[in-house]
Amino acid sequence: LGFKLGSKWFIEVQSPHSLQLYEVKRILYSGRTKYQSIELLETYEYGKILVLDGKIQSSTVDEHIYHECLIHPALLAHPKPEKVLLIGGGEGAALREILKHKTVKRSVMVDLDEDVVKVSKELLPELHQGAFEDDRVELIIGEGRKFVETSSERFDVVIIDATDPVKRGPSASLYTREFYGNVDDVLTEEGLMVTQATSPYHNRRQFSTIFSTVASVFPVTRAHQVWVPVYNTVWGFVTGSKKHDPSSLSPSDVERKLVERGVRELGFYNPRMHTVIFTLSKDLEEELSKPAKISTDAEPVALPV
Ligand code: SAM
Repeated sequence: LGFKLGSKWFIEVQSPHSLQLYEVKRILYSGRTKYQSIELLETYEYGKILVLDGKIQSSTVDEHIYHECLIHPALLAHPKPEKVLLIGGGEGAALREILKHKTVKRSVMVDLDEDVVKVSKELLPELHQGAFEDDRVELIIGEGRKFVETSSERFDVVIIDATDPVKRGPSASLYTREFYGNVDDVLTEEGLMVTQATSPYHNRRQFSTIFSTVASVFPVTRAHQVWVPVYNTVWGFVTGSKKHDPSSLSPSDVERKLVERGVRELGFYNPRMHTVIFTLSKDLEEELSKPAKISTDAEPVALPV
């Protein structure tokens, strides 16, 4: 083999035909909640890795790539985001990035699973960096779909940082046309939403379904993507907006807004990177320009594994 096999390995099923292997130094936590299994693994190359139902959520080494690209394009596209709703995001890292914008006066985070939040609060301080203690934050342990169906509050930006859609999984109802309709209802007039949307490379059909589903509700729909080393693939995001288009921000707009909003301590995202992540390959652009299946409550999009 050319290398010595260690004793403990974590295997992630990436697709029906490919696996990823990470050698584990220590298992820091392993348990089952009401909704999913949780593992927190200390690894050699990626620091701590949070795994839910066998799927890697984030690693302490490269989580900033994912979270900065999830949050900043949407928040910068809005002229003055004061109220932000975050659905999912149990580790607290998405919340950390939202709070970097000094325009934000209130951020409501709704995560289904109290235990994910508890494990993250205790064992992943590198990720939340105290975000849960910020005065602007209200943490609600609850189901995201139910929240948007019943809330009378309006938000400038809605961020959906949920687990991937899998059949009968806890987040299955967060990727359908009906759900995006509810999100539209809780947004203010100039509002926009962004969702993580799995890998446009490994799950292109599902990515394209999520894109078309968002486009069936919002007048402006955009995709962006970034390579996340620990996922070992390119990761995608879909923005649905009533008016503002994040892809139209130039590097100088991004630069000016980052300064105005006081956004500091970024590790990956910068004004030039903004343009890079919204630049899609020819084949992906062509794929997204074709009509795709719409995900509905009756037939929700789901990954094969
Ligand atoms: N970075 C991510 C990824 O790679 O998929 C997502 C991270 S975050 C840990 C996902 C969170 O979504 C989890 O904390 C989970 O409890 C939450 N979640 C799943 N389904 C949900 C639902 N229906 N409502 C609210 N939160 C949900």
